[in-house]
Amino acid sequence: MPVIQQNVSLQSFNSLALPAEAEFFCTVRDRAELRAALQFAHSRQLVVTPIGGGSNIVLAANLSGLVVHMDLRGVSHRAVGRVIEVTFAAGENWHQQVQSCLEQGWYGMENLALIPGSMGAAPIQNIGAYGVELSDLFVSLNAIDKLSGEAVEFDRAACQFGYRDSVFKNAARDRYLIVDITLGLTTQPQINIQYPALQAAVNQHVRSAAEIGPELVSAMVCQIRRQKLPDPELIPNAGSFFKNPLVTRAQTDALLQRYPQMPHYAQADGDSKIPAAWLIEQCGFRGAVRGAVGVHDRQALVLVNLGGGNGAELLELAAELCDAVKQRFAIELEIEPRVYGAD
Ligand code: FAD
Ligand code: NAP
Repeated sequence: MPVIQQNVSLQSFNSLALPAEAEFFCTVRDRAELRAALQFAHSRQLVVTPIGGGSNIVLAANLSGLVVHMDLRGVSHRAVGRVIEVTFAAGENWHQQVQSCLEQGWYGMENLALIPGSMGAAPIQNIGAYGVELSDLFVSLNAIDKLSGEAVEFDRAACQFGYRDSVFKNAARDRYLIVDITLGLTTQPQINIQYPALQAAVNQHVRSAAEIGPELVSAMVCQIRRQKLPDPELIPNAGSFFKNPLVTRAQTDALLQRYPQMPHYAQADGDSKIPAAWLIEQCGFRGAVRGAVGVHDRQALVLVNLGGGNGAELLELAAELCDAVKQRFAIELEIEPRVYGAD
């Protein structure tokens, strides 16, 4: 049975360092502890909220019910033809596993280096960066249904992955506790440096394409990220606060008439992705400070807690940014992290 505590501060369990308490809290390290925690919650009719690294949540109020810190550990693998299928327990750290797989000579995760958080949370928003998404590598996951307590396996199709989206943000929201995920990696590197910032960084370091390997790609991704993104340990944040909006071709064309320099990336379906950071910058918010919270000065998509800020203040700032972008561009920004406690 895991130790279950009452009225526990979650400030050190969320990368925005927002003050909030869990009514009940426990850390589970294996499936047996997870089942015991679920039984405890069931017997008291408590809502169960899983958290991993807390790097994609906004705590705007105390959480009632049982918060379960998903710290299950373990990694195993098997060869399936040329693919190495690696199964990671939910509590393993994403970046540590990217590095560990690289050391083993198992490739595919290198563009996703330095993303904070746990393996178990990665499918929730189909994490992505520098031209690669989790869904590109994904094989399956095992979860426990909170309602029935039954074990359920999801393959890629069942996860309904989209751009920073999955079934776990929609029809299956709040229903499953992910206990492990399996990714298909390869021993033959497949280099993907199409993303312009990554290509530029890699090209600065090599004289010929033959020198480009996954280790270099990972190192360059880490270098770019460290230059641009605030380290949550030093400046609390949750990464991108908004998704990059997808707008229709007609709306993109109309906006380009007014803003010919607007960056835009055409999608397969004809829509365009507009960087939310650019929209926010155009509204003059880069580096803006509102009391104890603000907009990061090197990346306008990142909202930061400057010290002592709370969830309500942060959401007020987010609403101010959304209103400004909507007024100027007629585009609705959507918050990316999961917000708890805001009505
Ligand atoms: P948490 O914040 O703990 O949880 C997020 C959500 O998942 C919550 O709703 C929680 O209930 C649920 N959850 C967590 N674990 C489980 C589980 N085992 N089972 C069921 N539900 C679960 N994201 C990107 O996509 N790309 C990036 O490049 C990126 N860069 C970032 C950079 C910084 C500096 C920061 C702070 C964040 C960044 N993020 C990025 C967001 C974040 O790292 C990812 O979303 C990550 O997957 C969150 O993992 P976590 O363990 O911290 O999840
Ligand atoms: P950036 O290079 O300033 O580019 C801004 C946005 O434009 C990116 O978010 C990206 O969308 C899009 N973009 C750029 N080049 C593109 C291309 N060739 N094709 C399609 N879309 C393109 O971005 P950044 O803020 O420094 O982030 C770099 C990468 O890390 C991005 O992939 C970003 O998503 C990821 N990241 C995510 C988070 C998070 O919390 N979710 C935090 C930090 C960084 P995409 O987001 O779709 O790639």
